[in-house]
Amino acid sequence: MTLLLNGIGISRGVAIGRVHRYDYTTPDIRRQALAGDEIDAEVGRFRTALGTATAELHAIKARIPQESSAEVGAFIDTHLLMLEDHLLSRVPVEHIRAQRCNAEWALKLQHDELIATFDAMADPYLRTRRDDVSHVVGRVLRLLQHDSSRPSATPPRASIVVAEDLSPSDVVALQHARIGGLVTEYGGQLSHTAILARSLGIPAVMGTHAAGRLLHDGERVIIDGEAGLVLADADEPLTAHFRLKLRSQRARSERLLAMRTLPTVTADGADVSLQANIELDSDLSAVRQAGEIGVGLYRTEFLFIGRSEAPDEEEQYKIYRRAVRSLRGQVLTIRTLDLGGDKLSDAVDIGEQAPNPAMGLRAIRLSLREPTLFIPQLRAILRASSHGPVRLMLPMVTDLSELQRALDLIAAQREALTREGRNYDPSMPIGAMIEVPAAALTAEEFARRLDFLSIGTNDLIQYTLAIDRTDDAVNDLYDPLHPAVLKLVRLTLEGAERAGIPVAMCGEMAGDPAYTRLLLGLGLREFSVPPNRHAEIKYVITRSDVRKIAAQAAELCTLPDRGARLQALAKLNRGLDELL
Ligand code: PEP
Ligand code: MG
Repeated sequence: MTLLLNGIGISRGVAIGRVHRYDYTTPDIRRQALAGDEIDAEVGRFRTALGTATAELHAIKARIPQESSAEVGAFIDTHLLMLEDHLLSRVPVEHIRAQRCNAEWALKLQHDELIATFDAMADPYLRTRRDDVSHVVGRVLRLLQHDSSRPSATPPRASIVVAEDLSPSDVVALQHARIGGLVTEYGGQLSHTAILARSLGIPAVMGTHAAGRLLHDGERVIIDGEAGLVLADADEPLTAHFRLKLRSQRARSERLLAMRTLPTVTADGADVSLQANIELDSDLSAVRQAGEIGVGLYRTEFLFIGRSEAPDEEEQYKIYRRAVRSLRGQVLTIRTLDLGGDKLSDAVDIGEQAPNPAMGLRAIRLSLREPTLFIPQLRAILRASSHGPVRLMLPMVTDLSELQRALDLIAAQREALTREGRNYDPSMPIGAMIEVPAAALTAEEFARRLDFLSIGTNDLIQYTLAIDRTDDAVNDLYDPLHPAVLKLVRLTLEGAERAGIPVAMCGEMAGDPAYTRLLLGLGLREFSVPPNRHAEIKYVITRSDVRKIAAQAAELCTLPDRGARLQALAKLNRGLDELL
């Protein structure tokens, strides 16, 4: 009889393969008392394990595919930093010496203490770091134990890896082994492991809880990473159904790949601009893979995250210049710092923990408050503009006076650079993100003072619907089709049109093919999306006739009932079934 397990669908795609149980032996850690003359050797053993763990992580990092998003390498860097941190490198040594105990026990003591600290934190982002600590400690413990009874770390090609939990670096190593899919007992949609599986395109189901008990090594399973299903012992008709799904999935990826070089034009001939969102300059290789495209959103705050000192003007200038050059004539839209909210950096002191960080000192508010941070960035961006097309974009503008202050500062930097005889593009376009309802409601006023706008739906939805984007308890209330959100999107499009400037969308909504036709119908002609979504969005654009969908799109915006809006969306997306 077919066994069906339900979990969370993490990464789209069907996979059929044999189970490879991974890492199922939890190290058994006991305290061993040491004699005084054994302590130095034990400390040496611990340090060797740390060194090997570091070397292993470097080796895994070197195997990350070029086209992967920057997040992939960033996770490994986090683990490397943790290995260096005194909390994991020095404190266990102190325990070995003070307690005269074995390294495994000393590390376990420190691990339990760190985990208790993380468990007491309310912030969901910080709590995800708890898993990182466990993954790093697990790696060192395994090295200390040299456990040869553990299953092979390299699963056979195309196997379905079943694990209790996996670290981000495990995922990279498994991808290198060309596994077919992943099933874990723990972990959710927002875990780093999930983000990685998605970014690497590995079909995955997480949070199945019973997988370890119910699935056996070598048995054949089917996983559906979209529906969150794991099936064992499936009968022939069921298997045939999933084989068909798998075949159409492969055909679909091939068709999408072929879209790369095609122009982005609707079926009735309207030109659409499709650009990329990037977090780090290392994402640029993925941008180049996606075709001849520019960058519509460069989230520069990631240059500041994960380091203890802010990059100065010179360092930023060199990074931006490299990015401009690598785009070979395509535009680079550099968004100024959007630190604050859930994006914090040790390099920038935002003061006391704000009671409500998303509404606190974030983005342009922080930049205007901290000119020593803002001015070097403005100068670096201006200087980079002398090497190719650059646009400067201001995040989270809310009030016109705030915009004016930023514009005045930019004008002052231009004058200073002229005085210093430095090059910059005097006509570098300046734009702003529309991601606060107040700005959307007054979009035309902003548009009259700027060269372009870009709608940030992630924050626009957060602030319009009053749902904290980092709180999974209210995740189900996230609704890009809410009439209030659509009204604000339309106001922004209309405001920009009246002022005669272009408007893009760079929030997640722009990268979800389910909304592409709706947005085209509302008049959006510029999309900025993660590079790995390009092909899908282009596919929908080329199969849409904007003249036919405008009226349907406008009508959808007026429907008060969510069910009716979803129905209207399905009608709008007719013919795209195999993609959506
Ligand atoms: C947005 O808010 O939609 C956006 C693109 O900015 P971020 O996700 O970086 O806040
Ligand atoms: Mg935003």
